[in-house]
Amino acid sequence: MSERRLPHSPLFSPARRVAGTDETIFSTITALSVQHDAANLGQGFPDEDGPEEMLRLAAEHITGSPTVVPNNQYAPGRGQMDLRKAIAADRASRYNQHIDPDSEILVTVGATEALAASVLGLVERGSEVVTLEPTYDAYPAIVKLAEAQLRPVRLLRNEELGWALDRAAFAEAVTNDTSAIILNSPHNPTGIVLGRDDLEFIASVVRGSRAIVITDEVYERLIFNGEHIPFGTLDGMAERTVTISSAAKTFNVTGWKTGWVCAQPDLLHPIIAAKQFLSYVGATPFQSPVAWALTNADDWSHSWRATLAQRKKDLSTALEELGFRVIPSQGTYFLITDIAPLNTGESADEFCMRLPETVGVSAIPVTAFVTSPHSPEVRTLVRWAFCKNPETMARAIERLRSHFG
Ligand code: PMP
Ligand code: GLN
Repeated sequence: MSERRLPHSPLFSPARRVAGTDETIFSTITALSVQHDAANLGQGFPDEDGPEEMLRLAAEHITGSPTVVPNNQYAPGRGQMDLRKAIAADRASRYNQHIDPDSEILVTVGATEALAASVLGLVERGSEVVTLEPTYDAYPAIVKLAEAQLRPVRLLRNEELGWALDRAAFAEAVTNDTSAIILNSPHNPTGIVLGRDDLEFIASVVRGSRAIVITDEVYERLIFNGEHIPFGTLDGMAERTVTISSAAKTFNVTGWKTGWVCAQPDLLHPIIAAKQFLSYVGATPFQSPVAWALTNADDWSHSWRATLAQRKKDLSTALEELGFRVIPSQGTYFLITDIAPLNTGESADEFCMRLPETVGVSAIPVTAFVTSPHSPEVRTLVRWAFCKNPETMARAIERLRSHFG
């Protein structure tokens, strides 16, 4: 996708740690969507708001109200205490995961900064980081920033679940050179949810290694079949797990960039060392409203999950009727289809680059999530986001029907 190259002048060559890093696929596809007024089923952001009271509180924390003193200045280094307490209470009640809000939580600028600070703080230059592929695009880029080596383990295609962990390949990938394993469940872009058996298997490999585990759990509340099991709750794993999550996908506030890291103090301190010089702290006025939502918005979460499940069903049905092969998924905002049965002869890249203009809909090629984009397993796979409002979903389906029907 040459359109995504970030131009640079011959006078100033980029540092090796960013050389070859293109504009993200999400920026490219969303820009094309805007340009062609397409229904954006590409970038994973919802186009409707989260809990109303949470939004109202954020406004009050900026402007003040009879009950809220405004706070538009730096938050404490580790984040506002009410948010840290709410994160700890949520993890304890939901997963029986016990985290000390004083010493084991750091509020970050989204999960993205949490990931970057964790890798920069804990991964030694030249060491290896194991990921499951397809893999969220930030992981390879962040590993490169840390001048470490990515060691992707391909997920296997599976009739029933869509994709499955290749246990033998995973065990082989974790060696003495492995400093970290990045897990992501529910998983972007496949939508798979790692079950207890796979997690236990991963833990058994981890026990025989020196690696730490960084788990990205940003879709923890968005599971349609199955349950979320935080890796840090497995026997002996709390000591070596960095747990990351974020308000973005939990409460429909991707623009608030409010995330967090939970880890034991020995792991957290190097992460703080990196984070404090990336951003120092995150935006203050959003932190207490997110604390409110973690404590009070379970009903909203249940109903949002039910809405998403229905939208996923509607989109799957429509795509299937049009001849796309829908690959099963259990969570997140996303489903993947194979476009090969349409017989257009296109790769997913070609398809997704022309879709906004020719069909008025956007989607993301799964090739953006792999290290070998030309491999036949992914060449024709396309990811669709179903987290969009009813009007956007209906418009997208109608346009897909009139083009491919
Ligand atoms: N991890 C995954 C798997 C994601 O899909 C995203 C996008 N929400 C992020 C991390 C980044 O989250 P945030 O917007 O909180 O930085
Ligand atoms: N996580 C979102 C997705 O997968 C995108 C976030 C971003 O644009 N960085 O669509």
